[in-house]
Amino acid sequence: MGLNVIMMGAPGAGKGTQAGRFARERGLPKISTGDMLREAIKEGNPVALEAKALMDRGELVDDGTIIAIVRDRLTKPDTRPGFVLDGFPRTVDQAVALDAFMQERARGPLVVIDVVVPEQELVRRLGSRRICGTCGANAEPGKTVCSTCNGELVVRSDDDGQVVVERLKVYERATRPVLEYYRARPTFRVVDGAQAPERVANDVDSMIDDAAASGGRGKLGGERRSSGRAADQAGA
Ligand code: ADP
Repeated sequence: MGLNVIMMGAPGAGKGTQAGRFARERGLPKISTGDMLREAIKEGNPVALEAKALMDRGELVDDGTIIAIVRDRLTKPDTRPGFVLDGFPRTVDQAVALDAFMQERARGPLVVIDVVVPEQELVRRLGSRRICGTCGANAEPGKTVCSTCNGELVVRSDDDGQVVVERLKVYERATRPVLEYYRARPTFRVVDGAQAPERVANDVDSMIDDAAASGGRGKLGGERRSSGRAADQAGA
């Protein structure tokens, strides 16, 4: 049975970093809708160029476009052993479409990880985030060039102050209901994303393994949290 993971979390929660690391370590493809859209914009894809205006305002791209992109990506053979989704689903309609796809293709259970970070910390992180202008990777703290390709570091176009506020609002309105959609599943887990990065990584790994082992057979409503105060405070 494949290991299918959804990494959820507000903008700035670190879900992309954790999704990338976990996918690399387990040899699974990381599927990031944000990265795919930014890549398609660079290539001059007309649909993506239309989406760019929405992204730059912090709004969501329409469900039809995103669902089509993800469905297409999930039919590629490299997803057979599983995948790690980052940035999808972001609406309940996207989550319903993903469930339909998983059932259609008999792809096994989905492990859903919610990386929780208090809002104040999200705003602080997004305000200081730099990415590589060449390959798009998040910059490591303290570095002046990209550690992957030596590219120049830039501010991501949607990390600008007002746009950050809008992205957090959109997250509350459109994406928080997705957590409620998944919360009662035995494969749903909450991780405290305000801890030191290596502790977050440890918790993510053990939560995914634990949820995958329960494989949908655990008791319904059996949500488990990582230890740590921030998750208890911010995850409500
Ligand atoms: P972050 O998680 O840091 O907000 P992403 O890189 O995941 O950023 O996404 C950047 C932008 O791309 C979003 O603000 C949105 O406009 C668009 N986008 C990405 N994924 C989706 C999705 N699943 N549904 C709708 N829009 C999306």
